[in-house]
Parts: sequence; C-alpha cells; structure tokens
Amino acid sequence: MTPYAWSLVLGTVAGLADVAGALILTGRRRWDRAALKYFLAVGAGFMLAAAFVRMLPESVEKLPHAFFFVLLGYFGIHLFEHTVAPHFHFGEEVHPEALIHPSVGYLAFVGLGVHTIFDGVAIASGFIIRPGLGLLLFFAVLLHKLPEGFAMASVMLAAGRTPRAALGAAVALGAFTVAGVLLTSLFTQFVGYALALSAGVTIYVAASDLIPEVNREPGPGVAWAVFGGLVLFAGADAVVTTFGLH
Ligand SMILES: [Zn+2]
Ligand SMILES: [Zn+2]
Repeated sequence: MTPYAWSLVLGTVAGLADVAGALILTGRRRWDRAALKYFLAVGAGFMLAAAFVRMLPESVEKLPHAFFFVLLGYFGIHLFEHTVAPHFHFGEEVHPEALIHPSVGYLAFVGLGVHTIFDGVAIASGFIIRPGLGLLLFFAVLLHKLPEGFAMASVMLAAGRTPRAALGAAVALGAFTVAGVLLTSLFTQFVGYALALSAGVTIYVAASDLIPEVNREPGPGVAWAVFGGLVLFAGADAVVTTFGLH
C-alpha cells in the first residue's frame, strides 16, 4: 500500500471512531462512558508526547520558521474555539445555562470541526514523511476520537437537537478528518507547514481541551492514565523504530 492509501484508510478509521464515540452517548451501557475518560486521559498523554518527541523536531527539520507555524496552529485554534464556539469542552455537556441559545450546538460543531480537519492533516503529513510517523500520529488521533465524538453528540443533545442530528454531527466530524487527509495529500510540497500547524493544534487540543477535562475528575486514576499515555507513546515509538519505520 502507498503512504497515501495508508493515510486514507487510517484517516477513515479515525473518522469512524468519532461516530463510535457518539454511539456511546446514545447507547445504554454506563461502563462505556466511564471508560471514555481514560481514553481522553491516555490520548492527552500520547498526543503531547507525539507532538514534542516527533512532530516538533521533524517540523524544524522541514521548515526554517517551523515554530512560528506551530504557534499559529496553537493560537489559531484557540482563537477559533473561543470566538465561534464560546462554550465548548470535552466530556458530557452538563451546563444547560450555557445552552440557552439554540445555535450553540451548531457553533460547537463548527469550532470542533476545524480541529478535526487538522486530525487528518496530522495523519497525512506523517505518512508523507515516514510510515512510522504516520502510524504514531494515527494512534494519537485515534485515542482522542471516541471522547471527541461523544462530546460533539452530547452538546447537540443538550442544545435540544435530536439523537439523529447528534449522530450526523459526529459523522461530519469524521468526514472532515478524511477531508484533512485528502487536502494534505494534494499539497505534499507543503508538508512542513502542514506538520508544524497540526503540531500546534495537537498541543492545543491535548493541553487545553483534554487536560482540563482530566483535571475535573476526582481521584488519581485519570492522572496515572495521562502518564500512561506517555509510556504508551514511548513503547509505540520503540516498536516503530525497531521495525525500521523511522
Ligand atoms: Zn458545558
Ligand atoms: Zn480531534
């Protein structure tokens, strides 16, 4: 399989995980929901590790002013999430007072949608550079997709939309991820920019969207799960190196 085919297949798998996350919300089994916060925590640890250990050094190698674009990704997504979607967070939506305006569900969708494009950009730019990097970034994306789809569906339901609309929003997030893969594959000559921008977005999502949600949880379990994400990344990175994919 070509790197492009890999990124398309794995981008689609990541997109389907958005849908699976939304289905957890509409499903009845409580333990699924309890497991979600661990995905969120492990995902945060893994994403930050992948960004600092692989994405940043690789961006610097590809691009002279890489850190400017990393910051552009970070602050761009921050600005976007806080202007377009003033009330959005991961985890279940439990603040009815923030949802008096019926459009809030759609605004959260637009706010989250932009970052899901960069989930696809990260996967595709990884595969353009090296299969090992693509695989690591796929796992980084996959780990936060279940809580992402769940959060999307949750804010739609809380804003008074039907379960069908909630599921539709998660399907669209998945499609945006695939669109990010396609877009990056069309402009392979700009892969350094794509990687640097998506590194900034990854750091923002992990540190400012996921970690605050982890910190809301009582008890040390989720904190250990964040640290576990770092250990999991180190293991995955070692496997990738052993198989000569780096
Ligand atoms: Zn809320
Ligand atoms: Zn995402």
